[in-house]
Amino acid sequence: MPDEDLTKELIEGPDKLIEVIEKKDIDKKDPLSYTKTLKTYLFDNEINATILASDKPNANKFSGIVEWIGDRRDDEKGSEFFIRSRSEGKVITFGINNVKICNYNPQKRSFKIIQNPVTCPVCNQPILPNQSTITCPNCHVVAHKDDYLEYLKMKGECPSCSAKLTLKGK
Ligand SMILES: [Zn+2]
Ligand SMILES: [Zn+2]
Repeated sequence: MPDEDLTKELIEGPDKLIEVIEKKDIDKKDPLSYTKTLKTYLFDNEINATILASDKPNANKFSGIVEWIGDRRDDEKGSEFFIRSRSEGKVITFGINNVKICNYNPQKRSFKIIQNPVTCPVCNQPILPNQSTITCPNCHVVAHKDDYLEYLKMKGECPSCSAKLTLKGK
């Protein structure tokens, strides 16, 4: 069975993504089984994922077991994956601005997601798949979360669009 291109569905959001995977799984001995809480799908089956920072052969990658897939918390279109590797668990956010291609292998039940190389506007270093990111609510630029928040604390504006922003909360 060839890999399925689920790029559109990944960007559409978790509901679309699960709908397609379920259809592929219908004849399997162990069809996809999950618990859905709000818009988060927690899986009983093992789903694997490998995230690559680019399509270069030596690209930085992060792989592990997908524990859940949910809606993005920043109101942007896309999906969030919680992936547990041998050493750590990470939330990785996917959307139109960082996904190049998402392939899904129904037989192995595994995702291979290649990201567009994205450069952090604060430190000018590439953003790697296992790093925490944040999206500007105004211009939607993606940056390293720590770098962006540090910049915001110092300058009170987005490093990319210069929108005046304040940190909410305590
Ligand atoms: Zn950075
Ligand atoms: Zn901005």
